[in-house]
Amino acid sequence: MYGKEEDNRRGVIFNIQKFSIHDGPGIRTTVFLKGCPLQCKWCSNPESISPSPEIMVYDARCIHCGKCEEACPEGAIVAIEGSERIDLAKCTHCMECVKVCHSKALERTGTDMTVREVIEEVEKDSLFYQNSGGGVTLSGGEPLFQWRFTRGILQECKEMGFHTALDTTGYASWEVLEDVLRYVDLVLYDIKHMDDQCHMEGTGVSNTRILENIRRTASVVRTWLRFPVIQGFNDSPENVDGVASLALELGLEKVSLLPYHEWGTAKYDKLGKRYVSPYSGQISDERLEEIKSVFEKKGVVTTLKG
Ligand code: SF4
Ligand code: SF4
Repeated sequence: MYGKEEDNRRGVIFNIQKFSIHDGPGIRTTVFLKGCPLQCKWCSNPESISPSPEIMVYDARCIHCGKCEEACPEGAIVAIEGSERIDLAKCTHCMECVKVCHSKALERTGTDMTVREVIEEVEKDSLFYQNSGGGVTLSGGEPLFQWRFTRGILQECKEMGFHTALDTTGYASWEVLEDVLRYVDLVLYDIKHMDDQCHMEGTGVSNTRILENIRRTASVVRTWLRFPVIQGFNDSPENVDGVASLALELGLEKVSLLPYHEWGTAKYDKLGKRYVSPYSGQISDERLEEIKSVFEKKGVVTTLKG
């Protein structure tokens, strides 16, 4: 309970989403942590990748007052073609520019919080968890990137009687994952590609550790598999069959198909990054149903989202 040293552990989160119904059973609060060791080319949450707080620039709100340039101690802000641009190589995340921008053209993403502060926030909806069979889900980014902070939140949630879920890529050492899993009731485990070379091309990392860890995870904790379906990357018949076979072999309770969407692409520009994914285009409903039927024919319970 409160007062433990662990309660004061700090971490960086970029969102706390209330009334979430797609991140585990019942009504949940999903805590999104910053920082991810993967570099998925299609990532729809680019603000989740860096572990540090960042600034998003909303051009349409800028009144070109120049206050941010004056306030920046690093000379990191310059106006280019009427837009304020932040030189990410110079920026130290001091947030002085955000403080002086009264038109909210500069917004901070990423809040430094203690475990206790997160718990105080999620605790507000405990009645909804009780009444719906819900709880708290930790997501990202990759929540294991800040694993001690993640473990602290999960441990506190368990002590308060909340159901806990961990939404993870599984890209961590088994020692870290095993330690965190002591406080997890349900794992939502992302599998992106069964072929190692393809996995490296799409995410920047090998899938070897991820596939080893899902086997170990499923043997100790209730596990649902999440399959983000990215047209042109992982929707081939061979890969779909491979993921479905893995779910069957491990006896997983459920698979969720998460179709790629383009909602996140505009965020890259706001962060001063470029969206360069070779994979684009929404997968058709028909193709998604075909993929779903591949899983179902193997007897694996499969849903779209959720
Ligand atoms: S302080 Fe805000 S409104 Fe003023 S120039 Fe900078 S971004 Fe634009
Ligand atoms: S956050 Fe970055 S851009 Fe803004 S004032 Fe500080 S150093 Fe300059």
